[in-house]
Amino acid sequence: MDLLSVKKFILSKILGRKYIRTGHCRACGKCCRQIYVKHFKHVLQDEKEFEKLQYLHRFYTYLKVIGKDEIGLIFECQNLDPETHKCKIHSRRPGICRRYPQEELFSMGGELSDDCGYKMEPIISFDEVMKKIDKKSAKG
Ligand code: SF4
Ligand code: SF4
Repeated sequence: MDLLSVKKFILSKILGRKYIRTGHCRACGKCCRQIYVKHFKHVLQDEKEFEKLQYLHRFYTYLKVIGKDEIGLIFECQNLDPETHKCKIHSRRPGICRRYPQEELFSMGGELSDDCGYKMEPIISFDEVMKKIDKKSAKG
């Protein structure tokens, strides 16, 4: 088994993940300018609730509300340098930024920007899913 297969095995069988992250960050800063916040099972809609969250994790203290849409409140991170589009605290950025993007993004209705250097690829290909469905129906 090669390293990629081991990684896929751990992600899907042990961590229950459906996607694997490939590629690399191009440091465009887009994901730091349009952020949704998910708390437990819902995307934040209410500024009062957001104020309370700021006591829970330093990441939330970096954010400011810049709008709202059908998904929820939209935040921008104040650590993003508007000139260079780089993170001003890159070496000590929170874990949530280091792990971005994760598949939770999709469950919030979010998506990667078109020119993001990362891709989220399904661990099990469409063909494999179809084979599994065929097998189940044959048994069935
Ligand atoms: S949108 Fe993608 S490429 Fe741009 S900063 Fe975020 S992770 Fe990096
Ligand atoms: S802390 Fe840095 S990497 Fe994280 S959202 Fe803010 S600007 Fe982006």
